[in-house]
Amino acid sequence: GHTPVTVIGLGLMGQALAGAFLRAGHPTTVWNRTAAKADRLVAQGAKPAHSVGDAVAASPLLVVCVSDYRAVRDLLDPLGDALDGRVLVNLTSGTSAQARETADWAARRGVTYLDGAIMAVPAGIGTAEAVLLYSGPRSAFDRYEPALRGLGAGTTYLGGDHGLSSLYDVAILGVMWSVLNGFLHGAALLGTAGVDAGAFAPFASTSIGTVTGWLAGYARQIDDGTYPADDATIDTHLAAMDHLVHESESVGVNAELPRLIKALTDRAIADGRGGDSYAAMIERFRAPR
Ligand code: NDP
Repeated sequence: GHTPVTVIGLGLMGQALAGAFLRAGHPTTVWNRTAAKADRLVAQGAKPAHSVGDAVAASPLLVVCVSDYRAVRDLLDPLGDALDGRVLVNLTSGTSAQARETADWAARRGVTYLDGAIMAVPAGIGTAEAVLLYSGPRSAFDRYEPALRGLGAGTTYLGGDHGLSSLYDVAILGVMWSVLNGFLHGAALLGTAGVDAGAFAPFASTSIGTVTGWLAGYARQIDDGTYPADDATIDTHLAAMDHLVHESESVGVNAELPRLIKALTDRAIADGRGGDSYAAMIERFRAPR
């Protein structure tokens, strides 16, 4: 059947979440601090709650998506026993420590807690591309998976540790920012020779595909703790990094990113890793510095 669901927080993301629940046929109750943000959803069939307490009372499944964890606690803490027996799914972005603290708080309140992370923009919610990550008790995820799957085909359960969804969230964003920064730096370099970013983009795209192909093998090396250089050694990489640093300096673009990459590699070599594959750089990232 169609699980009744309450969505608390109707910012850009909360409105998209509530809209997807409505389209999937769930009786959907909505609440937002600024009430007018519920208007469009109410016109589409959502039930407006007049207080957070009414919103919580309306459905067994509560989805919260506000700016930060502080706002989550400020909203829900005053409700006391009203939360008892509910399943709370918190899709607000935060850290793993905040997720675990909120799980402890929920346990004291008799609330079953799933922490979640949204790897999508609002327009992607409810589509095949949207990835939503969940961590917390498996039984709660299994029970509400059919409803949650309506938010995105990439709905994934990560495990019982409530911190996992936040950790994956930042780890994934870190990959994306590294890729984007590499692209932007490269575009700046080529720009000094009058090359458009548009001309560079297909080459950058191909290189991202090449690296993608390396990940599974490097992950095996990292998990095994052995780094045979079947492709290229870290020593070989370093020589090419030198070119990137010097080229950046000589054409006058920002060289901070290549210098950082080279500094990490210098230290790996100082640690005796020069003959290993690039995956051995994991040790530089595991160390605090
Ligand atoms: P918005 O700024 O559009 O909305 C913020 C929401 O939080 C509003 O509903 C706002 O209420 C509410 N809010 C903030 N503080 C309080 C408070 N103290 N008490 C009650 N309500 C409060 O942000 P988004 O919807 O874009 O983002 C929400 C969460 O989703 C964030 O954690 C974000 O990181 C995450 N997210 C967003 C993505 C995106 O592309 N937008 C992608 C992935 C995750 P009011 O309307 O009254 O101000």
